[in-house]
Order: sequence, then structure tokens, then C-alpha cells
Amino acid sequence: KFITVEGTEGVGKSTNIELIKTLLQQAGIELVVTREPGGTPLAEELRNVLLANRDENFDPLAELLVVFAARAQHINQVIKPALAAGKWVLSDRFTDATFAYQGKGRGLPIQAILQLEQMVQQGLQPDATFLLDIDVQVGLERARERGELDRFENEHITFFEKVRAGYHERVAATPERFMVINAGQSLEAVQQDVTLAVEKLLA
Ligand code: C5P
Repeated sequence: KFITVEGTEGVGKSTNIELIKTLLQQAGIELVVTREPGGTPLAEELRNVLLANRDENFDPLAELLVVFAARAQHINQVIKPALAAGKWVLSDRFTDATFAYQGKGRGLPIQAILQLEQMVQQGLQPDATFLLDIDVQVGLERARERGELDRFENEHITFFEKVRAGYHERVAATPERFMVINAGQSLEAVQQDVTLAVEKLLA
């Protein structure tokens, strides 16, 4: 199975990916854990280009193409071979993030993303997606407390509100694939919900 984990800043993606990984491995699943943008040496270089140039007036279409360039590399070198070998793949972000960040956040036409998705993924879609959902201000505050927020200021709240709305549009389009977790709860409650969702995946 191909499982993805999505969410805006400060939702606790890393912590919950560790939990999902542990639970799946305990169930005897052979698992490849990976991330986007990135997941191969070349795709990680492209990730660095994306992150290093975020404040540099990156043309949104150029950014979109780099995201999909990294994804093509990641799919063909890591995701497809792992799935073909019968392993499960757990990816920290995938194309839902592109619809949310580049589409809704940066305002690129959804049609352009759909075309690239078709070209690059050739029908590959996640079997299940965890969306860690949190109030944008609460998430940004958590990210700031962890020192992850050097690049972001209050003006970015509007941007992340759009990103969050973009994720919810994705849920509305294919609700059967999504497990929406309320990440604004206590860590224990979030982890309990994630554990229940993983148990459903294994059932
Ligand atoms: O997943 P992670 O938080 O490590 O992502 C790194 C950064 O890349 C985040 O700040 C996220 O906002 C950004 N990103 C993006 N477009 C994507 C995926 C991630 O702008 N498609």
C-alpha cells in the first residue's frame, strides 16, 4: 500500500510518521519511509533548491515544475520499485501538498497540476492519506515554539489558510482515501486517533 501524510506547518507530521512507521513495522509490514519534495539524492537537491529560493520570487510555475521533477525521480526510483516488490511506502507529503501549496496557496491553475499529475504519476495514487488538520494560527505558533518558523511571519497566516482550504478540497474530492486527524488535540489524543486509523488500514 502507498500511504501519505499531509498537513500544514506545526501539525506534528514527523512525530506521527514515526508512530505510523512503528505500528506498521510491528505488524510485520515491510516499509519504505520517504518524503517529498525529496526521497532520492537528486530529488533532495531539488528540495534544497525549492527551500533555499522560497523568498527569492520563485516563479510559481517554475516552482511547480521543480516539485514535479523531484516527484518523477522519486516515483520511478523509489516508490514504484518498492510497491512492485510488495513493500508498503509511507511518504511525508505527496501530490495533495502540490494542490494545497502550489495550487491553492500560490494560485496556480488546478488544470496545470492535473496535467502534470497525469504525466508524472500515470495513475499512481495513494491508497490512504492521513491529513493532520489544525487551526492555522495554532499550528504556526507550535512551529514557532519549536524554532521552525524563521521564514514565516504573520502575513503567512493568509497563505496557510489557503493551503489548509486546499487540503480540505482534496478531502471533499476523494473522501474515501482520507483519514482526517484533529491535530489540535493533545498529543495523546492525536496518537490515539492515528493508531485507530492505522488499525483500520491493517484490517
Ligand atoms: O514537509 P516539510 O514541512 O518538511 O516541508 C518543507 C517545506 O516545504 C514546508 O515549509 C512546506 O510549506 C513546503 N512545501 C511547499 N510545497 C510543497 C511541499 C512542501 O511549499 N509541495
